[in-house]
Amino acid sequence: MNHISRKDINLGLIFVILFSISIVGGFIKWPLFIFAGVFLFSYIVLDRKRLRCPNCGAYENLDRLIYAKNHVHHCRRCGERIKIL
Ligand SMILES: [Zn+2]
Repeated sequence: MNHISRKDINLGLIFVILFSISIVGGFIKWPLFIFAGVFLFSYIVLDRKRLRCPNCGAYENLDRLIYAKNHVHHCRRCGERIKIL
């Protein structure tokens, strides 16, 4: 795999949004904290497997990846262009 999938970036974004909602909701109904934990864990797994530089495995922020969807983006570590497909 030499690119990052657009779908995985969107999925990551969804996990972050759901996590934020669960944290806020957790103050009203505490079981939502459990969901927050699940969403955070899912995001970390997705991030480790799919949201790294395909060339060198460097970590990229989600907001940078979102930017990279519509712009040319180069990896900060290896300098390779990160393709978003
Ligand atoms: Zn790289």
